Amino acid sequence: MNMGRFDFLYKKLPVGLQNVAVSTFGIYWKWLRFGSGFSRFVSDYRGREHLSKPEWAAWQNRQVQELLGMAATRVAFYRQTWDRRQIEAALNGRLDDLPLLEKEPLRSDPKAFLRKNKYPWHPQVFHTSGSTGTPIASYWTIDELRNSLALREVRSANWAGVSFKMPRATFSGRIVEPDPNSKGPFYRYNAVEKQVYFSAFHLKPDTAPFYVKALRNHNIQWLTGYAVSYYLLAKFILDQKLKVPSLRAVVTTSEKVTPEMRTVMEEAYGCKVYEEYSTVENAVFASECECGKLHVSPDAGIVEILRPDGQLCEPDEIGEVVATCLMRTYQPFIRFRLGDLAMWDAEPCKCGRAMPVLKEVIGRVEDVVIGPDGRQMVRFHGIFVNQPHIQEGQIIQEALDFIRVKVVPTADFGPKDVADVETRIKQRLGNVQVIVEKVNEIPRTKAGKFKAVISVLDRNV
Ligand SMILES: [Zn+2]
Repeated sequence: MNMGRFDFLYKKLPVGLQNVAVSTFGIYWKWLRFGSGFSRFVSDYRGREHLSKPEWAAWQNRQVQELLGMAATRVAFYRQTWDRRQIEAALNGRLDDLPLLEKEPLRSDPKAFLRKNKYPWHPQVFHTSGSTGTPIASYWTIDELRNSLALREVRSANWAGVSFKMPRATFSGRIVEPDPNSKGPFYRYNAVEKQVYFSAFHLKPDTAPFYVKALRNHNIQWLTGYAVSYYLLAKFILDQKLKVPSLRAVVTTSEKVTPEMRTVMEEAYGCKVYEEYSTVENAVFASECECGKLHVSPDAGIVEILRPDGQLCEPDEIGEVVATCLMRTYQPFIRFRLGDLAMWDAEPCKCGRAMPVLKEVIGRVEDVVIGPDGRQMVRFHGIFVNQPHIQEGQIIQEALDFIRVKVVPTADFGPKDVADVETRIKQRLGNVQVIVEKVNEIPRTKAGKFKAVISVLDRNV
């Protein structure tokens, strides 16, 4: 059964049966992700973890040579769009002579990227949320799925001192509780994996105690999923002085973790926060080691950070992330423009791993706010740091000189706070018009994500 059909039937069931359904399908999901091949992938990832820099380069070269040769001969899109010189480059394994891949062809015809000589049994399809305007369907073989879970087990969970075998809670884009006005419970429990699925859509100050209770009732050891959801829950926990059971780690996905978010989460959950930076397509995978550095896994893909003219960025220089996925070869993405901005770290990490370090993932290109004079601001959520009378805030750029700010105020919110927000925005952008609008809640995206910054500017003008 595909996930769409499962979700459709799931919504019609009462809560008790939804738990049964989640657990019954849990058996299938467990097999799908952790079945045959998983442990071999785990030991492969462990084995490669301490390769030296030259060993990594040699390993990647072999993989990329094979991947590009296959793409040039077996994948319709590349065969049709690469010219003769580019096909030649691909056959010789020269990645940097190949064009960048935009999202549009992937969105309009994802099957044109499937490799022709491979007919996997039971391929899995995942859809990105489309919160950035370009939903993409990615096709995975079961082997690739297990491979990606093994990668997360070794480089995310194990680095954080936990494992997918331990009871965990997850915030994701899944519709866990179909009724938006539900009075609870706001989670479902998969008994097979000892996993609590939290609803990202129902998290509010008055529902927060129920989320904490679920952690205790199911003896949850670690948390994983949407960074912003865990951050909001952490704020509610601190505000209401809720008692959290002892946890080993929080491994966040999806959104960038700011230093403020990290401090709040570590205080609320009483354990360390580890950031994972990856995409649904797994074109890029980076995770935080025990020294707190974000290492790119070179066996997941080749990551380039590029200047606007296509040259490679130096360390400490912000550029666009372009990724070539080595782990998924059924639907190969070659030099894929992720739409993220990031920079390399020049310093090797003290942990001794030779895997490259991202100094910072700045955010998505779409989240950039542009000033009337053309300056680009990428850390705009800083507007809400240290604003005790604002529960949640969202910045919407509607025109170059017009910013709308939605705030969910606390009872103490007043004109001084409005003036403060206006000043902070003008300090960053110059002379723009600012409207601060009080709202009861800030809607999440379809995937349940909270977006702190939205720009609706047409960037092609
Ligand atoms: Zn490290």
